[in-house]
Amino acid sequence: MIKYNLTCECGKIFESWFSSSSEYDLLHKKKLIRCIYCESSVIKKSVMSPNISSKSNKINKKTKIEKNIKKQLLDFRKYIEKNCKYVGDNFSKEARNIHYDKKTSTGIYGKATPEETTELIEEGIEVATIPWVDKKEN
Ligand SMILES: [Zn+2]
Repeated sequence: MIKYNLTCECGKIFESWFSSSSEYDLLHKKKLIRCIYCESSVIKKSVMSPNISSKSNKINKKTKIEKNIKKQLLDFRKYIEKNCKYVGDNFSKEARNIHYDKKTSTGIYGKATPEETTELIEEGIEVATIPWVDKKEN
């Protein structure tokens, strides 16, 4: 069953139930739908539920923002991969080498446990943890 809001030429709006949209079309064509106020058969379907469209707009907007963030993280990842040296699990060791041997200026990236990261920060070594976005997933 479908409920339609119907608008009459007299300006009144009323609700009516139909088994399907084609049933409405058929009855409308045969002028069998009549206004409950003035009995006119000049009836129009009114636009239905604007709420649904505004709600889905919001969802689309949110997805867009999430996609943008993901894209930025991916770009950031590409930038790091291009400009920094990957040191894997040796990250905290390499980070210390760079920090204490001022001659090296290459950036590095790699894995560190939260404990190692805290230690590095406590030693005054600049460390940033970023969400590592998977390139394959879309
Ligand atoms: Zn009417």
